Amino acid sequence: MVYFMEYKELENCKLCAWECGVDRIAGEQGVCMMGIPEVASCQLHPAPPQSYTVFVSGCNFRCLNCQNWEIAHYPCNNSKIKGYMKPEHIASIGVKAIRSNAGQLIGAERFFFSGGSPTVSLPWIEEVVHHARIIDPAMKVNFDTNGFPSKQSFQRILSFSDSITFDIKAYNDETHRALTGAPVEPVLQNVTEMAKHKDHLWEFRILVIPSIVDLEEIQAIAEFLAELDETLPVCFLAFRPNFCLDSHPGASGKLMGDAVSLAQKAGLEHVNWTGFTDIPGKIHSIPSRFQEKYIHEHAGYAAYCAKQVGCKQTHRNCKECYYQNSCELKAYNPSSMY
Ligand code: SF4
Ligand code: SF4
Repeated sequence: MVYFMEYKELENCKLCAWECGVDRIAGEQGVCMMGIPEVASCQLHPAPPQSYTVFVSGCNFRCLNCQNWEIAHYPCNNSKIKGYMKPEHIASIGVKAIRSNAGQLIGAERFFFSGGSPTVSLPWIEEVVHHARIIDPAMKVNFDTNGFPSKQSFQRILSFSDSITFDIKAYNDETHRALTGAPVEPVLQNVTEMAKHKDHLWEFRILVIPSIVDLEEIQAIAEFLAELDETLPVCFLAFRPNFCLDSHPGASGKLMGDAVSLAQKAGLEHVNWTGFTDIPGKIHSIPSRFQEKYIHEHAGYAAYCAKQVGCKQTHRNCKECYYQNSCELKAYNPSSMY
């Protein structure tokens, strides 16, 4: 086994709010189930902020709607990834790509770390940034987060990031757990911290999912953000059928417009939306005895969807779950259903 001195903290991993304390170098697995940091893919990416994007494998959430599930749920599926890459190597090829004609044509000017959840690979990312800034001291960096780094990790992320794209999955804890498998409180704490450092914020991103994250959740998120600072930038993303929700309908254009209006009414000044809309799909009817276990109807619906692909828990909390390391949801492959 390769030994990584610079990643010693992976021997007692507390990088994210799960604070598993496992020895990832020795093969112990926390919620993310990752060992050493591994790259899934890396390429120039034209979506704002234009960048050289590094998709790092592994995630600390188990979201029903994951659009990058092949990357996020590695190593529980057979996805082909690049694997471990030396930080100085990826720094060098990333800077070259950004400076290339193709990079300049799309306006690329930064590294963008995404996943999965890049928090799981934070010490490796810090090394990449260090080496990229040896080559170009002005090199910008964007960090993409699901809001679940530990408090200490979030300070580290703030210290080297020029911009942060920050996903808020839901506001109500019951809905957040049902959708992601994780509690919402650490996310809301990091949202509050992010608002204090809004010069580092690219935007908060909220995925609008019919019957799960729709107007009730959006109102709660918008009021929470507006209370912190009405000038925080927010972008609503239209859900497209994916992963466990691959037969779920996409968000309608009307729902996206209503989300923006609601957020503006809550006081937010910089709100927009993006994405494809009105993709057909089916909302299931849920047995009332199942729904009765949940305060929020949306949480009940999401929990029902999780159950359909093998989640064994009524109220998801992946860290406390007995099936954490043999999770059917994490190993789910929607393409095998056709
Ligand atoms: S889930 Fe978070 S704390 Fe647990 S092993 Fe993975 S990165 Fe570390
Ligand atoms: S079975 Fe357990 S680990 Fe898997 S998604 Fe459900 S709660 Fe999380």
